[in-house]
Amino acid sequence: MGMSSNEDWLARSQAAVWHPCTQMQHHAQSGSPAYLPLVPIARGAGAWLHDFDGKRYLDGISSWWTNLFGHANPRINAALKEQLETLEHVMLAGFTHQPVVELSERLSALTGGALGHAFYASDGASATEIALKMSFHYWRNVGRPEKAEFLCLAGSYHGETVGALAVTDVAIFKDAYAPLVRAAAHVLPSPDFRLGESGESPADVARRAAAALEKHLEQHGERIAALIVEPLVQGAAGMAMYDPEYLRLARQLCDLHEVHLICDEIAVGCGRTGTFFAHEQAEIDGNPIRPDLMCLSKGISGGYLPLSIVLCSDTLYAAFLDDSVARAFLHSHSYTGNPLACRAALATLDIFEQDDVIAANRAKARHLGDALAPLTGHPQVRHLRQRGMIAAFDVATDNPHFSRQFYRAALDREALIRPIGNTVYLMPPYIIGNDEIAHLAKAIDGALNEALS
Ligand SMILES: *Cc1c(COP(=O)(O)O)cnc(C)c1O
Repeated sequence: MGMSSNEDWLARSQAAVWHPCTQMQHHAQSGSPAYLPLVPIARGAGAWLHDFDGKRYLDGISSWWTNLFGHANPRINAALKEQLETLEHVMLAGFTHQPVVELSERLSALTGGALGHAFYASDGASATEIALKMSFHYWRNVGRPEKAEFLCLAGSYHGETVGALAVTDVAIFKDAYAPLVRAAAHVLPSPDFRLGESGESPADVARRAAAALEKHLEQHGERIAALIVEPLVQGAAGMAMYDPEYLRLARQLCDLHEVHLICDEIAVGCGRTGTFFAHEQAEIDGNPIRPDLMCLSKGISGGYLPLSIVLCSDTLYAAFLDDSVARAFLHSHSYTGNPLACRAALATLDIFEQDDVIAANRAKARHLGDALAPLTGHPQVRHLRQRGMIAAFDVATDNPHFSRQFYRAALDREALIRPIGNTVYLMPPYIIGNDEIAHLAKAIDGALNEALS
């Protein structure tokens, strides 16, 4: 190996690696308020990340919302080692294999059979683009090519490739590339409960946002292919949470106007909000609503390997069956359906079943809420909120460097907590223990006071 200290890896990384979502100059400006430390990680174990100098960090955001059951999880490791010795990869066009078949069957079963086919890619943004293309192509195949526009919500985030940016409404990711982005997506009001006027409940805000959707569909429905939403929590917007009533009404309105509902469960799926899929919390006649298309990624492989999946209804799938190749969905990626990634996902689903994770998370989420509850008394904390294993609050400050200062102060307290703007949030791995939740709460308290002083 040769090199073994943080300092060595810092210098080499800064010289050779272009890090994502980062102004690289900020990594080099120690001492400035904009400074962002680069943290070399030697190994991970459970909820902890360890650097080369003996320091450790509790992963309070599941390494960008991917890691559900800890780093170097023994059960996922064992499954991957076995898969590695059996089949590392085979192209999925013309070939199939056990992990991809089993994963597709199990995911379909988790939707109650409503979404019967699974299409595979490697990252979330590709899943978004696949869902948009499938919806558009479906309408063309059934003789309605005029249905070619998309709807998304204010503050929506569905990925950063040029196609996915069309339905993403986060200025820092979109503005620089606006001339490249197709303008056919219309942005509708978000049901974010924080937009409530005095006396309005979260369900009232949801109904008001749904009324705007209804009005748009009444006027333009025949041109709309699909509405894409992040169910219950708009993550990159700063953990904007909303009432399931919006999803219930959106499902009904989409049915009425023959528009696909795409649920982007990339961040909120896999148990994060308290049910396996977030959209299940919206019900019609006692049954969970179902989207026409659903995107999964991030947590589905346990945070191990790049994997994304688009699940679709059998109706949608059937519209592509024909003698004509042009009516087929000709999308592909080299690593589509990679056996190692699918095996990691199967091992992840096994843990959900064997440990009854959804039920166990209910107690854990209560504990998380209790640990953060004292923050309501903090004079600069606003909108402390929680949905399952996501907790967030906004900080009222005009310090333009708040998020970096908080981030640095949290690292100093052995915690990885990376605010989005002035929103501080926790999205910990599900294996987190109560003492570790207490550690995060204490780090938040200290970092908050340091960043606001
Ligand atoms: C992360 C995310 C994406 C994009 O996934 P990538 O793998 O980063 O391309 C899309 N939608 C949502 C809701 C996400 O949280």
